[in-house]
Amino acid sequence: LGVRLAEEASKKYGSPAPTIFSKVIDKSIPADIIYEDEKCLAFRDISPQAPVHFLVIPRIPIPRISEAKDDDAELLGHLLVVAKNVAKQESLTEGYRVVINDGKHGAQSVYHLHIHVLGGRQMKWPPG
Ligand code: AMP
Repeated sequence: LGVRLAEEASKKYGSPAPTIFSKVIDKSIPADIIYEDEKCLAFRDISPQAPVHFLVIPRIPIPRISEAKDDDAELLGHLLVVAKNVAKQESLTEGYRVVINDGKHGAQSVYHLHIHVLGGRQMKWPPG
């Protein structure tokens, strides 16, 4: 499966360099995975910025939201549906923050698309 996704990604996104999240997906490094299905997984952020902080990532290594294709709409929608379902599973009844960082100005550090979900405390706006 990993090989097939890498081939698909290289065709669509130009041979993206593997990131640490590839190792989370293939379970060659430990992660606290709280949800997974055939398209994506959710796991706790290793450096949580809120009492609850998890990431939702597609299995296919799309490097960043700005490099997603228009025909990724269904997958991108699925990631948001999973984000809200896992937020419910995590009992974030008072609300939460959903964030996608893109590129330099977005302060992205891992170039495998991920949705941050942060909750369990009051967030501020603007985010900095
Ligand atoms: P970003 O700055 O949006 O690219 O976010 C990357 C996030 O991945 C950061 O919040 C990191 O703490 C988190 N992170 C990096 N490596 C790991 C890992 N091995 N397991 C869980 N979270 C990670």
